[in-house]
Amino acid sequence: MDPTAHSEFYKYTTPLITPLSFDPATSTHIPFRATPHHTHRTWARTYTSHPELYLQPASLPELRLIIHLARQTRKTLTLTGSSHSPSTITQTTSWLINLDNFSRVVSADPTDTTITVEAGIRLHQLLKELDALGWTMRNLGSITEQSVAGAIATGTHGSSLRHGLLSDSVVEITIMLANGELVTCSKDKNTELFRAALVSLGALGVVTHVKFQAVKAFDLRWTQKVVDWTEFVENWDNADWHHHEFARCWWFPYSGKAVVWYADKTEEPRTGRPASWYAEGWRRWGYEAALYVATWFPSLVPVVERWVFRMQYGKLLAGEVVGAVEKSDEALTMDCLFSQLVNEWAIPLHHGPAALRRLTAWLTHDLKSANIPISPSNIFVHAPIEVRVSNTCPTDPTTSAFETPRPFLDQSIVPSALLSPSSLSTSTTAEGGATEKTVSSPAGSESPTLYLNATLYRPFHRNPPHWQRYYTAFELLMKEYGGKPHWAKNCVSVGREEWAGMYGEGMRRWREVRRGVDPEGVFVGEWLSGCVLGEEKEVQ
Ligand SMILES: Cc1cc2nc3c(=O)[nH]c(=O)nc-3n(C[C@H](O)[C@H](O)[C@H](O)COP(=O)(O)OP(=O)(O)OC[C@H]3O[C@@H](n4cnc5c(N)ncnc54)[C@H](O)[C@@H]3O)c2cc1C
Repeated sequence: MDPTAHSEFYKYTTPLITPLSFDPATSTHIPFRATPHHTHRTWARTYTSHPELYLQPASLPELRLIIHLARQTRKTLTLTGSSHSPSTITQTTSWLINLDNFSRVVSADPTDTTITVEAGIRLHQLLKELDALGWTMRNLGSITEQSVAGAIATGTHGSSLRHGLLSDSVVEITIMLANGELVTCSKDKNTELFRAALVSLGALGVVTHVKFQAVKAFDLRWTQKVVDWTEFVENWDNADWHHHEFARCWWFPYSGKAVVWYADKTEEPRTGRPASWYAEGWRRWGYEAALYVATWFPSLVPVVERWVFRMQYGKLLAGEVVGAVEKSDEALTMDCLFSQLVNEWAIPLHHGPAALRRLTAWLTHDLKSANIPISPSNIFVHAPIEVRVSNTCPTDPTTSAFETPRPFLDQSIVPSALLSPSSLSTSTTAEGGATEKTVSSPAGSESPTLYLNATLYRPFHRNPPHWQRYYTAFELLMKEYGGKPHWAKNCVSVGREEWAGMYGEGMRRWREVRRGVDPEGVFVGEWLSGCVLGEEKEVQ
């Protein structure tokens, strides 16, 4: 053993690192790939932190060394993939682990179209590997920049009434726990751990490998059309997501329109993608610059949004049908433009019209119809507000059985009491006379999930004014419809008790599994202890 091995890190790890890193089998010291003074930013630069150490292990022994050191020196470990979660979920002043060095394909099995990958691999890398095998992923969200582990950890979803979360395709997960043990879980093995790991929030340990169910590669014919917003809401029960495998809607409040996008599998020859107005550098810059100016003069936002809508979707407005035939991953993903705050909530699909009518009313200052006790004064929102769906109904409604085990923390699963058409009853609270509404619904029936995503751009990384007031009003509305926020996004008004209440038994079981695998709280970073777990934090 070299008595000075890794001594440059004693300041952070104590001299314990020297004996702990010694590997008697090879008579060498396991590398410790750590960077002090690292600045960690989310992709959108919404938050920045300065972890004491930024760690990028390149092997399982290296990862185990980090975990042992953290446990013994009482540091917390937070994980990050591609840092695409815009909230503080990956921010820490303690140690931050990134698995970019874990990005290989381990094996692929043609007999059942499954692939096992290291968990740091980005979705776009995985798709490339799958493509070489003639396979692809069943469903995708808007982008493929995320790491596999990160996408699973927060419940990433796409938009389809025939598919659920991306993690619905996960067959097996391997995690390195706080004691350094490597454990594999699946629907048949360590099932409770598997259900906890399907949305883990990085709180169970380090996900090192994921086995996915892939599907044969397919192409999609997609079509885009502009519809009148009011008509879209009126025709809710006949919306395109009922008729096509994939469908989503972007609402442009200041144009009174929505762009509906839908896609189905096809074997037609591929075509080129129609030109996008703001794909070009200077136009994109122009849009961002205009929004930047509008951060000082917010009433300019509707003018800017109407202008960009006309430029981007002019052909559709003129009645032209725009579409293409593309590889599935190219068709399903989209250009998300620049830095943004996003606040996405899941509510039962059938509450869509009521919720959207009230939000429309609030944005147009019709306060009586909106019935949201927060002033919309001086609030101008960016477009689009995304309207997406997901299949969260049981495969067998008679037994409420799902094809795959459900994550304990699946934000898209709605409590059964809120699952069917509802009536709203209004009452007045004792304090301040604010109006409080509750949704009353017959229990037991099932509903798909509707996701409403209130995007606010941050032109040149500057927050728009009053964004927290907008989000607070939006969240009040979503809560009335039994909503749950996306784990990774920028909700502003949900405290620990409220998170726990939204998940009830699911949260209780998730916490039980978590405590079982990490009793000392090694993986309880600042976001987890502040927002979700509270008193469970045991180490500094
Ligand atoms: C432009 C944009 C578009 C998006 N589109 C969608 C969309 O269409 N649908 C949707 O649902 N979401 C969407 N998201 C959100 C995104 O999918 C999630 O934030 C996702 O978690 C990001 O993955 P990541 O690799 O960047 O993970 P990070 O943001 O770095 O981390 C997210 C979580 O993963 C955990 N984690 C990371 N690595 C590991 C590991 N090895 N082991 C255990 N835990 C780990 C972290 O601890 C953290 O809790 C979008 C985000 C952006 C910025």
